[in-house]
Amino acid sequence: MVERILEINHLKKHFDMGRGTMLKAVNDVSFHVNRGETFGLVGESGCGKSTIGRTIMTLYDRTAGEVLFNGKNVHELPTKEKFKYYRSMQMIFQDPYASLNPRSTVREVISEPMEVHGIFKNKKEQLERVYQLLEEVGLNRDHANRYPHEFSGGQRQRIGIARALALNPDFIIADEPISALDVSVQAQVVNLLKELQVEKGLTFLFIAHDLSMVKQISDRIGVMYLGNMVEMTAADQLYERPLHPYTRALLSAIPIPDPDIEESRERIILEGELPSPINPPSGCVFRTRCPMAMDICAKEKPVWQEVEQEHYVACHLYQESSGTSAEPKVNILSK
Ligand code: SF4
Repeated sequence: MVERILEINHLKKHFDMGRGTMLKAVNDVSFHVNRGETFGLVGESGCGKSTIGRTIMTLYDRTAGEVLFNGKNVHELPTKEKFKYYRSMQMIFQDPYASLNPRSTVREVISEPMEVHGIFKNKKEQLERVYQLLEEVGLNRDHANRYPHEFSGGQRQRIGIARALALNPDFIIADEPISALDVSVQAQVVNLLKELQVEKGLTFLFIAHDLSMVKQISDRIGVMYLGNMVEMTAADQLYERPLHPYTRALLSAIPIPDPDIEESRERIILEGELPSPINPPSGCVFRTRCPMAMDICAKEKPVWQEVEQEHYVACHLYQESSGTSAEPKVNILSK
């Protein structure tokens, strides 16, 4: 039976910038993650995806809405339960260079969460656990006494993964875990995460700024733009039948290895910069860059709705469709 381990309901996270100015980093976003799956959260830098990750971790309080983990609101947990929550929910960070203390050995880096949570009374057992974790992520016990600067980017990310696994979590938020790595190393780290997921029954929220690698790991994907979720569906469906113009633009930016197809295919180039979340456009937030924008797009915010089974989109092109058809009023596929 499918079990929802994480539910995000109408989450808003606004930052007060002073002088009455609010930065609307996350604006009424809802989605859920099923136990054992990987949910990919994708969008350009500044779209709010990392803010969602940090709000789930309770590094930020929320402005409105709720984050439920195993049915409990994580921002209202009593201290003792919050401590338990931090054991179940771990994070892997984008930059393996910055996220590891350069003055700590690998052993100290991986031991730290176990010490904070008082997992082992016996130092020898703790060290054995460090060795075990290093082996699980494709390193070895000889690496334990070295410092982070002695490792390549891919190896450092493996150390970050070992640290995230140290407390035997149920859920890992991977915040752009591969974007600082060489392309050749990205696939290795993604494969490692997939293997660990199967072995340990982990659930992942995988945050990324483009759609190129996300398909390899995600069961379902949500696409964000300027603090809003604009499309969400199963990974295969998103790649085969993207509905939102922004998703189509992101997909068209992924290079295809076949030079003939690559040369002949159409690219959707988005004009202009991402608008400021301090002063987002009226109506649809994507309208200033959307090649399909209509008059109504400036006046009314599109409703988030299920246009095909388990395929959600917020776009006026689909607003008149019934609950079972996703044919747009304008033929987006011909553009
Ligand atoms: Fe483009 Fe309008 Fe759809 Fe927004 S609502 S994505 S501007 S067509």
